[in-house]
Amino acid sequence: MLVSRIETLLIVVNNLSPKSISFFISLTLLFFSGCSSKEWYKGNTHTHTVLCGHADSTPEAVTQWYHNRGYNFLCLSEHNQFIDPAMVKMPADKRDDFILIPGEEITGGSMAHTTALNTDGLVDPAFREPEGASKTEVIQAHVHGARARHGHAISNHPNFRYMNTADDLRPVEGLHMFELYNGHPKVNNFGDAEHISVEVMWDQLLTDGMLIYGVSSDDAHDFKKLAPDESNPGRGWVMVRSDELSPDAITEAMYHGDFYATNGVMLNVVDSTRQRIEIGVDESATETELQSTFVIGQSMNQGELGYRIQFIGEGGNVLEDVKGTQASFSVTDASSYVRAKVTYTRKQGNGFENFYAWTQPVFTDGRQHFTHD
Ligand SMILES: [Zn+2]
Ligand SMILES: [Zn+2]
Repeated sequence: MLVSRIETLLIVVNNLSPKSISFFISLTLLFFSGCSSKEWYKGNTHTHTVLCGHADSTPEAVTQWYHNRGYNFLCLSEHNQFIDPAMVKMPADKRDDFILIPGEEITGGSMAHTTALNTDGLVDPAFREPEGASKTEVIQAHVHGARARHGHAISNHPNFRYMNTADDLRPVEGLHMFELYNGHPKVNNFGDAEHISVEVMWDQLLTDGMLIYGVSSDDAHDFKKLAPDESNPGRGWVMVRSDELSPDAITEAMYHGDFYATNGVMLNVVDSTRQRIEIGVDESATETELQSTFVIGQSMNQGELGYRIQFIGEGGNVLEDVKGTQASFSVTDASSYVRAKVTYTRKQGNGFENFYAWTQPVFTDGRQHFTHD
């Protein structure tokens, strides 16, 4: 197709007079810009620094950590503090494909925590924990606070101290992202005997008609002492598909669900349309990620080694379950949404550990962002 288009262009150029050359060049640039495709960018939306008083590294050292490990973007999301990227000294050897996205973690005590991503200053403290507000109202205030600063909200770690339930999140208007996975050791991503996992919560919200996407982040505090029970970086991230690497483009792509969440599994095919979802695993990229000393899988007593791709719909029901690294699914109206989950299982001690990639749902019921968003 491209070859035949180039041939057409060559025929055109043979017939051009010299004074038409500049017009031809403009036409050619336009022609090829139409062929450009989006790229994937790796990033972390949630991390801390010494400025909060309970993390161990400066904004510069934290930035360096992510820069040196190939991330493309990072948000220094400090508790109720706005770290202006312009004030952070960048690594001397900074790559062109690395940026900071401004933001903060709006921290409303034990009511709710919310990443305000791509904000243009400190969110008004009045939005943190309005007196007498319910948890839903606090989260709603965080969403409004982030919007007032021209950013978008990500509701954080609902299972941290089992702080937020599906009932708290469901009524919040304009909330379209939450942390499905968070690398902090105390956030209970997978629940316990008495509490559902965050993924089950996600399916409850999606089944109830909420338009909400799943984010994976580090929430890192400890960059100096490395151990499974420390809050270390490199455990959860997002891969965002965007026209360009800029704070606005990345944040808007996430807000509209053009990303996947992962704690180790990397994909090279994520084609989701209203009709069909196609998923392909990037095995070599996954292998590289899983060689890192930072990743931590979910410990399992039982498991089947290798890759599995599941397509999940209403009620968390598994609609199709495929062993292997490639799968596709025909989306029908039978479920109001369909999402894909990729699991990679490897041995760990006497048991197993699972790593995941979670893609964002395709909706069949026409649900949309609130018009005032
Ligand atoms: Zn938090
Ligand atoms: Zn945090």
